[in-house]
Amino acid sequence: MNRVNKLFTVSQLFLFASLCSAQQPAVTNHFDGDAWWSYVKFLADDSLEGRDTGSDGLRKAQAYAVEHLQKAGLEPAGTDGFYQPVHLIQFQLDEAKSSLALVGDGQSKALSFADDAFISSRSTRDSTSLTAPLVFVGYGLKIPENNLDELAGLDLKGKIVVYLAGSPSNIPTALSSHYQSAAERWRSLRAAGAVGIITIPNPASMDIPWPRISLNRNHPSMDLDGPEFNETPGLQLGVVFNPASAEKLFVGSGHTFTEIADLGKDRKPLPRFPLAVSLKADAVILTTKVESANIVAKLPGSDPALKNEYVVLSAHIDHLGIGAPINGDSNYNGAMDNGSGSALVLDVAASFKAYPEKLGRSVLFLLVTGEEKGLLGSRYFAAHPTVSAKSIVADINVDMFLPIVPMKILKILGLDESDLGTRAAAIAQSMRIKPIADPQPLRNAFIRSDQYSFIRKGVPAVKIDIGFELGTPEEIIFKDWLTNRYHAPSDDINQPVELQAAALYEEFTRRLLIDTANAPAPHWKPESFFRRYAAD
Ligand SMILES: [Zn+2]
Repeated sequence: MNRVNKLFTVSQLFLFASLCSAQQPAVTNHFDGDAWWSYVKFLADDSLEGRDTGSDGLRKAQAYAVEHLQKAGLEPAGTDGFYQPVHLIQFQLDEAKSSLALVGDGQSKALSFADDAFISSRSTRDSTSLTAPLVFVGYGLKIPENNLDELAGLDLKGKIVVYLAGSPSNIPTALSSHYQSAAERWRSLRAAGAVGIITIPNPASMDIPWPRISLNRNHPSMDLDGPEFNETPGLQLGVVFNPASAEKLFVGSGHTFTEIADLGKDRKPLPRFPLAVSLKADAVILTTKVESANIVAKLPGSDPALKNEYVVLSAHIDHLGIGAPINGDSNYNGAMDNGSGSALVLDVAASFKAYPEKLGRSVLFLLVTGEEKGLLGSRYFAAHPTVSAKSIVADINVDMFLPIVPMKILKILGLDESDLGTRAAAIAQSMRIKPIADPQPLRNAFIRSDQYSFIRKGVPAVKIDIGFELGTPEEIIFKDWLTNRYHAPSDDINQPVELQAAALYEEFTRRLLIDTANAPAPHWKPESFFRRYAAD
């Protein structure tokens, strides 16, 4: 562990602050990093077994969180005290009874689940036996706002489409992320008649190397229980194909995967064409019901007119649970993902008790379940909020903010979409921290955490992470972290963490909350694509 000592104690900070002029807000910090770290240590302890959705470990973490939210003086704001029950269905592939093969020239060649391609239970919800021709559809996107229609002119009826994850470079980041969500991509593919999808991860933007993806391929997936929540109706089969094996798909098509990957790395437009092989799939899917819950706590505002409006501070408290062992360790502790954000929620709540601040609006402290299964807890909360839907003015989501380097830069996802992004940038600057937009749009981060559930309901939202500039040594530290620790058992409490960066990030979050609770409600920018969701 490489924990950096905190620079000041809180009392030293106040002394220092009082010696400085009032115009130096960057000096005051209500956090020391140590309290945050003690929450992380509990949440990421081996005994919580990686906080899998529906597990005893997650229930323990939630009981701990409720105890601390209560201690901070917050009011219960769920439907059952602090809890909001969430009903889920679990899907698991019975791999021994399932198979994949490529069929061409009258021959059937079996694919290896471990090395070539696997059936994703996230997009295969029912057992199926299916043989269908394949069509390569580029990135598989239809984006009317940019006059992009990669499906035009192709016969996709009854076909399985093959696409490379990503988007052309002329598509703005937020728009590109939105249309690459499972629901949006499938909407246009389904309309064109497709019955299945094969995703080839883009080698230029894979966070996790194939062997690690493949290792946990049979970890169960989940969805919210109820037809209103099925985002991919009509999708019979979803397969993920190893880019290193993808040439097998292109044999006899007149194209190679090397050519496709070369274009995809620079986000260039891709050709689209029928493939010479078909896919034969047999999938056996086992389903079970699972119960979990969100946690909702309220810090009431004091303004008679505004206190019935809410600013949400959200973080997911679930993680991946117990999985395939890596270096002998099968406990996916999730210290940074997202013990870090859950700890921040508890610590910021405690800070408002220790150092009260005038808040016009009320603040909801929301710890959601099922994020790792596809933003399920937040999707449920956004669809069935425990306060009036119209009263939610903003969501500030915290997920894996990664205090692994000193905090000099904040990466604001949603920076250019709403006033909330603009204000977050201004607060960062007031703390002498440089705000930047997402420098790696290919990673699709804007739709990959719980803020997206709020965005789709019209609520301005941001997710903010400690950042770096491309081409600096920090970029390598982040890249190494994603390759080695992200969604791996080594995301545990024995990793180097910058406590001072965590404390500063918490202070930033506290200021953004206070500002949002008191300033005029944030709005989407007139030119933002996401503004459409706020229309009704
Ligand atoms: Zn995660």
